[in-house]
Amino acid sequence: MSTLEESGEERLIGKLFRPIAKHWGALGLKDDAALLTPLTGHDLVLTVDAIVEGVHFFPDDAADLVARKALRVNLSDLAAKGAEPAGALLSLAVSDSASEQWLESFARGLGEDCSQFHCPLLGGDTTRTPGPVTISITAFGAVPTGGMVRRDGGRAGDAIVVTGTIGDSALGLLLRRERIRPGFANLSRANREHLTDRYLLPRPRTALAQALRDNASAAIDISDGLVGDVGKLAAVSGLSARIDARRVPLSAAALAVVTAEPAQLQTVLTGGDDYEIVAAVPHNRLARFEAQAGEAGLALTTIGRMEEGEGVEVTGRDGKPLSLPRASFSHF
Ligand SMILES: [Mg+2]
Repeated sequence: MSTLEESGEERLIGKLFRPIAKHWGALGLKDDAALLTPLTGHDLVLTVDAIVEGVHFFPDDAADLVARKALRVNLSDLAAKGAEPAGALLSLAVSDSASEQWLESFARGLGEDCSQFHCPLLGGDTTRTPGPVTISITAFGAVPTGGMVRRDGGRAGDAIVVTGTIGDSALGLLLRRERIRPGFANLSRANREHLTDRYLLPRPRTALAQALRDNASAAIDISDGLVGDVGKLAAVSGLSARIDARRVPLSAAALAVVTAEPAQLQTVLTGGDDYEIVAAVPHNRLARFEAQAGEAGLALTTIGRMEEGEGVEVTGRDGKPLSLPRASFSHF
């Protein structure tokens, strides 16, 4: 198997990345820079996120899934801002021992997701590193001028609404790390696969962008845990938030884990990597928001509301206030 060292960056780019960089502005990856023409009457929305081997993915995770995750965490940020994807830049650092097979799989996964999410690869850079594989993607999105959904627009009385189900990815990570936990002991194979899949492959809610622009006063995608990320949204909006854990939507798999091991509710609420969207929505926009999300094929659940004050109060599944030692995941 040839390695990155032997193959050389030019050959690698030509063989693996040029075929997936089909947008005219990528200039066939033959230039020092790429071009992106902003849509008239729109703002460009910019975001960057890196994922690191051993931190965000396991060394033996399939390379195509690693590539998809790297792109999708950025698409999730764009979606939460109400932005439509416009393009992405890739920075990939791999070790000398990276096999060509790994790189081929990586490029294939990335190319398929760039097509699926209409987010063309515009350019990139590959380097060797003595450290863990590190993938940084910068994504560009577009919103009508002034239309980006910010974190700080929440208002007292707004409903707190989430997409999808919460906690699957964090439980999937735990399942991968500690198979012997009581919550997983009697979990069906289908439920195990569901949790693992949600850890490996985020589902960015790009289809919600328009509904968010039309209806939400503030939004954030859940990367570091529901409670922590709602807390961030509330804090920058100058408000507090109340969350009712009984209303937090759980998949059948997550419900089975929490039923078998109630302490895992904390993992669900604070574990992170959900890549669902949580939005603050005024009550008079709620019905329309739900209708538009439904048309986009997304389920929404109201889990609480924004109030005056500060901090996040969570009501537990027993109806009593829940104290969480740790609101969210932090790398630092
Ligand atoms: Mg985010």
